[in-house]
Amino acid sequence: MDLIAKGARRPSSAKTGHVELFTRSELLVHRGRELGLAVQAELRKPWQALHEDLQRGAWAGHVAELVERFTNPGDDDLAAVFDLLDATFCRLCEEADARLVVRHFELKLLEETGFRPELQQCVLGDEGIIAEDQFFSHAAGGVVCPQCAGRGLGQLPLAEPTLRVMRHLQRSPWVQLRSLRVPETLHNDLERVLTGYITWVLERRLQGMDFARRVRHLRSPHNLGKNRSRQS
Ligand SMILES: [Zn+2]
Repeated sequence: MDLIAKGARRPSSAKTGHVELFTRSELLVHRGRELGLAVQAELRKPWQALHEDLQRGAWAGHVAELVERFTNPGDDDLAAVFDLLDATFCRLCEEADARLVVRHFELKLLEETGFRPELQQCVLGDEGIIAEDQFFSHAAGGVVCPQCAGRGLGQLPLAEPTLRVMRHLQRSPWVQLRSLRVPETLHNDLERVLTGYITWVLERRLQGMDFARRVRHLRSPHNLGKNRSRQS
């Protein structure tokens, strides 16, 4: 149900600071015919880092956009998606590798909403996938082995190390992933494959993803150096 929170921006309002972007609050709601009215709000998790760190906030925007696109307000059971969102915002505040948090979230969300990519078997010929470079098909939703590559359209190369990390992310709980060290080139490749697939599924560009990328580009040591030398 869509809600309105009247006066949430007024400094004197009891709801000020409790109904904000990227916060978890408990609300007392009067149900209307079409809209709910939040009459009381109590802050549960402020997720401070998402407000203070531009990059982490940008990732949170991407995460929220995906949840919105992959679900409908009338969906029966969104508890698992809600728990995933809650856990992801906590991890985005706490974990060193925010990009890894986002990739893990994306694979879990795809699974919860029925778009789990097949990473164990070739989606065209059913062969088991062995440790070598493969291909990925957006349309068929998974890995295509080198023998079947060329059958069907729209297949992209999928390097073996990228597939290995994707499989690990898909099958493992976060606690087993948090110590994983992913080099930047591998991160870029993971992002290319997963964002490509998600964009194909949703049939639209991801604004939050575009913004998070721009922030990362601005903040990369290379560009920070450039900006500094330009200022001096
Ligand atoms: Zn095959």
